[in-house]
Amino acid sequence: MDGHPLTSIIVLGATGSIGRQTLDVADRLDRAVLGLASGSLSKEIVDLAGRYPEASVAVARMPERPVGGAIERRIEFGPEAVAALARSPETTVVNGIVGAAGLEPSLAALESGNRLALANKESLLTGGSLVLSALESGGGELIPVDSEHSAISQCIEGESVEAIRRVILTASGGPFHARPDIDLERVSVADALAHPTWDMGKRISIDSATLMNKAFEVIEAHFLFSLDYAQIDVVIHPGSFVHSLVEFVDGVVKAELGPPDMRKPIQRALTWPGRMPAPTEPIDLMGTALTFSAPDRRRFPALDLGYEAGRRGGNGPAVLNAADEVAVAAFLDRRIRFTEIVEVVASALSAVPPGPISTLADALASDAAGRAAATESIVRRASR
Ligand code: MG
Repeated sequence: MDGHPLTSIIVLGATGSIGRQTLDVADRLDRAVLGLASGSLSKEIVDLAGRYPEASVAVARMPERPVGGAIERRIEFGPEAVAALARSPETTVVNGIVGAAGLEPSLAALESGNRLALANKESLLTGGSLVLSALESGGGELIPVDSEHSAISQCIEGESVEAIRRVILTASGGPFHARPDIDLERVSVADALAHPTWDMGKRISIDSATLMNKAFEVIEAHFLFSLDYAQIDVVIHPGSFVHSLVEFVDGVVKAELGPPDMRKPIQRALTWPGRMPAPTEPIDLMGTALTFSAPDRRRFPALDLGYEAGRRGGNGPAVLNAADEVAVAAFLDRRIRFTEIVEVVASALSAVPPGPISTLADALASDAAGRAAATESIVRRASR
């Protein structure tokens, strides 16, 4: 953007869905890509290193065999190499890493005063309070890339936090919400992966089917917009083109609408506070019905479990997220039933004692504790 210093881009999680879409947006905007990071050494990251010869490249995990070749010699290995990329001065760091490994680079980006375009949910779930202190001490910018939070941030731009009565996150409802006839005890992995509107990775598809993804987004909204949990509502909106709404104290409601395309919130994070043309399909309003309904909280208990973990604060959200990651993996492996995902997460939340998150080590220890408690709960179920 003209005159804005943060035009060069670092892409963390470059080979994932957010990473690839970010590179697409960056290419269209003619932005320089100065850094690329991925979790492991793959053909994809080596290809990207070739496509972006100016970019420094970091890979979090050491390869099993020594690497050769001119491109591979350009690659730095280890989590500290990924965090170092996030510290590249005066850049926009897009964090599309999946998992708690995304927290440290988020903190590094904000501590260095960079713009953090955040798609890594674990940064706020595992270390929300740490992210907010890094933002304050480093003077960086935190711009959400999730479609719901991108919508809310656009609706509240220029408004004061006191002017907000509540925010309303929209949820597609996943494949089961509109089907009360389906017995959730018996749904298969393939049924649960069939998301009606968004084409996403496996974990987030399952999290959408349980509504756990929306529970995470409630917690993220609490941190991003300094809102009480009582000010955050969820509605089911199967059309998925109202990306979220904000109601103000005078009763005015603002919403952000558009076709479901993640390149839109990504571009918003890269061009903020300006706007640039994008190839997004225009929204067709003619004959479009705005349909909203209340979530079925009894059939989808993940939502209230998320509010409970959020209100507990401290390590609650970290444990919620880590236990869910383990439970979803067990469901995908057909070791537990769909309805057991939330039961495993609830049992992990009661097994791990509440505690504060004051350091990165606390956050990572809470993640590990949530994981261990969920694993134990799954093993107990298998032996019953
Ligand atoms: Mg979302």
